[in-house]
Amino acid sequence: MKAVTLHRDQVYSGSLVLVNARHPLRQTITPEQIRPLEYKTTSKHPAVYLDTQRESEHFQVCLERKTALVLETLLASIGSGSSLVPVSGFRTREEQEEIYASSLKEHGKDFTESYVASPGHSEHETGLAIDLALNQEPIDFLRPYLPRDGICGRFRSKAASYGFVERYQEGKEVFTGIAPEPWHFRYVGLPHASIMNTHGFCLEEYLDYLREFPYEGRHLQVHVENKSFELFYKKAEEEETRLTLPGYLPFQVSGDNREGFIFTLWR
Ligand SMILES: [Zn+2]
Repeated sequence: MKAVTLHRDQVYSGSLVLVNARHPLRQTITPEQIRPLEYKTTSKHPAVYLDTQRESEHFQVCLERKTALVLETLLASIGSGSSLVPVSGFRTREEQEEIYASSLKEHGKDFTESYVASPGHSEHETGLAIDLALNQEPIDFLRPYLPRDGICGRFRSKAASYGFVERYQEGKEVFTGIAPEPWHFRYVGLPHASIMNTHGFCLEEYLDYLREFPYEGRHLQVHVENKSFELFYKKAEEEETRLTLPGYLPFQVSGDNREGFIFTLWR
């Protein structure tokens, strides 16, 4: 058996963190944890929409390191070339504030509250979210056009097998608090993206579902992409959370940014 000790602040990091209006980002990602997306496009970058000093040709979309690597692999696997444009990835708190203020000024309160998360509550601040557009002028920075057919359809059909989910889907507004955003994808990793797709869960629903499989009780067993996984939820203790795992199984743990951890074991 392998003894595992987790600290309370680990609840606030990992690929399954829930960041929404009710759950603010508690732990910001460090500069070492992000990197620019290596993906060239000929499009004039829509980031010039932001009233900043940045020149469009110098603007780079950054993501959390693993998320960047997996997205690059996914884009290469569908041969997207320059037909998809990464419009927005990691944002600092200041950038989110800037976007929010500029949207309020330009589009008003209703639009902004529907499509722009308030600073401290945006998934873009985690480095795990990417907005994509079809490379077709003009590109709308706040609501990029990512249709469901052609190359965009190919991206959508393979996204879950790489750990990405369409985060804000129609019909889920009651849980997410965000209007449908067919261009916004969130990295949650495997097997989570596949399970979410199979059950039609948004992240809020999925994290609630996982609580039905506590460490102390029956665990969730799934078979995804020809691999078997065992998942369970562990509520965090006040300071340190201790548990034991079978020593021979590789595992990953992510906080939920609420009050616990999700363990994923490769069986
Ligand atoms: Zn987005």
